[in-house]
Amino acid sequence: MARQKQPATATAGTTFPAAETVDIAQLVEDLDAMLTRLRLGAIREQLDALLEEAARRELNLREALAWLCAAEVASKEQRRLSMAMTIAHFPFVRTLEGFEFEAQPSIDPSKIRDLATCRWVANGDNVVLLGPPGVGKTHLEVALGREAVARGYTVQFTTAMELLGSLVKGQQQGTLEVRLAQYSKPKLLIIDELGYLPLEPQAGHLFFQLISRRYEQGSVLISSNRPVEEWDEVFGDQVVAAAILDRLLHHSHVVTIRGDSYRLREKRRSGLFRPQAGGSSSSGSGVKPPPPAKEV
Ligand code: ADP
Ligand code: MG
Repeated sequence: MARQKQPATATAGTTFPAAETVDIAQLVEDLDAMLTRLRLGAIREQLDALLEEAARRELNLREALAWLCAAEVASKEQRRLSMAMTIAHFPFVRTLEGFEFEAQPSIDPSKIRDLATCRWVANGDNVVLLGPPGVGKTHLEVALGREAVARGYTVQFTTAMELLGSLVKGQQQGTLEVRLAQYSKPKLLIIDELGYLPLEPQAGHLFFQLISRRYEQGSVLISSNRPVEEWDEVFGDQVVAAAILDRLLHHSHVVTIRGDSYRLREKRRSGLFRPQAGGSSSSGSGVKPPPPAKEV
C-alpha cells in the first residue's frame, strides 16, 4: 500500500503530530511549497546559502531560525521601501548625505537634521522652503521625503502646476472630490515649485480646499521661489492667499534659503561661467545665467 502522505502543515483544529510520526523527508520535499504558502520568499530563494552560513557559524536551532527570519524581514522591508519610493513619485534620487551644507551657508544644518527625524510629519506640521532657483529646495524636499518613507510614512511628491492642474480639471469634470481625497491621503504631501508659473484664477480656491482638508491631519512640504508676502500675487487673490497661509503656517517650520544657485556655482567652478566685475554673473564663454524666476 502506498505510504500515507503527511500533511505539510497542521490544519485548523488539529494539533501537530508527534515528532516521531512525522515523515521528515516528506516535509523537506514540501519545504518549498510551505515557504511559498507562508509567503517567506526570501528564505525560499536563499535557503541553501542561508543554511550554509548558519552551519558555518555553527548556529543552534533558535539562532538559525532568528537568522532566517532576519533575512525575510530585511527583504520585506526592502520591498516595502522600494514600493513606497515608487508610489512617492520623486523626480530623482537625492539624499541629505549628498547635500553640501557648506555650499549654502544660509541653511542651518542642525535644523535640517532635526527635520530629518520626521517628528514634524508625526505631528502633522508643515515645512515651507523658500528661496531662489537652484539653491537646493527640490533636493531637500526629495531628501526629507525619502527620510519620511524610510520611517514608514506615506509620501507623495507633486509640483504645484501638476496638483493645481489636476484640481482644476477635477472641478471641470465633476471629479474634484475624488482628487481632493486622493491628495489628502498621503501623510506627507510634497508640493514643489509654487510661484514659478502663473496659476488659473480658480486655483487659489482649490488649493485652499486642499490645505484646509489636510490641516492638522497630514503634513505639507512646499517650496516656492516667492516669499510668502508675495503669495497673494501668486494666487491672484489676497483673501484666499491669507486663508491658505493662515493654515499652512500655523504649525510650521519655515526654511529660507539665500544665496547662489548651486548649478551656476558648479558651472563657475568648471570655468564655463564667470561672474562679472560688479559681482553679478555674465555669460563668460557662452553659458547664460537664467532669467530671475525660471528654472535652468
Ligand atoms: P531648486 O529646487 O532650489 O531650484 P534644486 O534642488 O533643483 O534647486 O538644485 C539644483 C541642483 O543642484 C540639483 O541637482 C541639486 O541636487 C543640486 N544642489 C543644490 N544645492 C545643493 C547642495 N547644497 N549640495 C549638493 N547639491 C546641491
Ligand atoms: Mg526645484
